[in-house]
Amino acid sequence: MQQLYHSTRSDNEFVTSKQAIIDGIASDGGLYVMDGLENTACDLGLIATNTFQQNAFYALSRLLPDFDYYELKSCIHDAYKTFSTKKITPLTRFGDDFLLELYHGPTCAFKDVALQILPHLMAHAKDKKQKRIHILTATSGDTGKAALEGFADVEGVAITVFYPKNGVSDIQQLQMQTQVGENVQVCAIEGNFDDAQSGVKRIFQDIELKKRLKKHKISLSSANSINIGRLAPQLSYYFDTYSQLSQINALKLGDGIDFVVPTGNFGDIFAGYLAKKMGLPINRLVIASNANNVLTDFIQTGTYNRVRPFHTTISPSMDILISSNLERLLYYVSEGDVELISSLMHDLEYRGAYTIPKAMLDTIQETFSAGFATDTETKEAIKHAWQDKEKLIDPHTAVAVHVRDQFEFSGSNCVILSTANPYKFSRDVLSAINPNDAELATNGIRAMDLLYGNTNLSVPNALAKLQTLPILHDMTIAVKDMAAYVEANSMDVFN
Ligand SMILES: *Cc1c(COP(=O)(O)O)cnc(C)c1O
Repeated sequence: MQQLYHSTRSDNEFVTSKQAIIDGIASDGGLYVMDGLENTACDLGLIATNTFQQNAFYALSRLLPDFDYYELKSCIHDAYKTFSTKKITPLTRFGDDFLLELYHGPTCAFKDVALQILPHLMAHAKDKKQKRIHILTATSGDTGKAALEGFADVEGVAITVFYPKNGVSDIQQLQMQTQVGENVQVCAIEGNFDDAQSGVKRIFQDIELKKRLKKHKISLSSANSINIGRLAPQLSYYFDTYSQLSQINALKLGDGIDFVVPTGNFGDIFAGYLAKKMGLPINRLVIASNANNVLTDFIQTGTYNRVRPFHTTISPSMDILISSNLERLLYYVSEGDVELISSLMHDLEYRGAYTIPKAMLDTIQETFSAGFATDTETKEAIKHAWQDKEKLIDPHTAVAVHVRDQFEFSGSNCVILSTANPYKFSRDVLSAINPNDAELATNGIRAMDLLYGNTNLSVPNALAKLQTLPILHDMTIAVKDMAAYVEANSMDVFN
């Protein structure tokens, strides 16, 4: 039987993984999920010897079963040749723990692992009649650039990225504003990330707009982690961690691995949950948040409440109060209770909060823990990592490093996901390790130079060249104008 996807909020319509990738989100507003994942046999002996690419194949062939062998092989091959290390996501020592470095792709953030392959997956998923796809993406900083880089000048695709004005780092903003490509648009919105994401979700539910676009053979899709094509490739590095630990003889048979994951939209850590469901020996998954600690409260109390102040922090990619992928976790731990999920999500939308049944919370707590770091604690973690361990880490990774110390683990290996190159957040990293120099950093580029002066660590090429590139996109619009902006862009690119 071929395995199919359906919405977290209903289970009467089934689609292939190709269709789920094209749609991005289900028509009732739910997220696509697949049942029966725990029935896959996980051959750990085989995984122990795998390369990254083989692990990617392992994960994708199970989650995207309607892609054939050659399609997946070629997607994987093309996607990961753009990375600057042969290992793709190398595991490095960090005291007694490990850092899983996910930032060696072209935009220096972990989002590249998924967004370098998503355009290739989409190219195979598109049916011949439906030739035009318009990708809409709300970004808290890193997704936007990684999506632009992945989709720039891809045939039959347009991409529009919205980011919160004043809500991303100088360098992230420059990366997006200098993006080249005939089919790309980048625009700031007056609001925060949640406003941008909700705006995009509303566009997906705008039936009239979709009808008008359909007349021009254009359909909308998403490059956010609500898209299963974004999520599936992220399982690769959980499996690959197992391989890398085996290959340095750090794993004892039967040992589970603990992961600490800097978390915003709950995509990255949810990929870990799926890997565990598919049989990878994972003990605990620790959610690390910044001052927007809605998930910490949720894991402790079972109440998710987004009605609270929104904090702009030095880890902007995690400045999120609505962690979309949590909906998928709730689906699985409720054993597929689509009515319950619909009503919880209804409560979230109209009342800003929901509470899950105690039994569900117990199940979640068996696997997940959560903690958070303030900006001050984050900077302390950056300073100590540099002074004591000679590791320069970015603020998102630092949040996880801080949270890691709040827990004792029973497994023998703790792996902290390192999600961005520290140079992407030069100003704040510099102010953590040398506050005096930080005062001289009048802009992101200057901060990068000074950070180099302090550390002597090489600046990735993609970031070093930013100062020579012209600004191509500098518009700001109101949230209410997002739909009109998208429609105008669609006509522009495709006609
Ligand atoms: C996106 C991002 C995160 C959060 O990942 P989610 O999948 O949204 O939870 C953490 N760190 C960095 C650097 C990111 O870009």
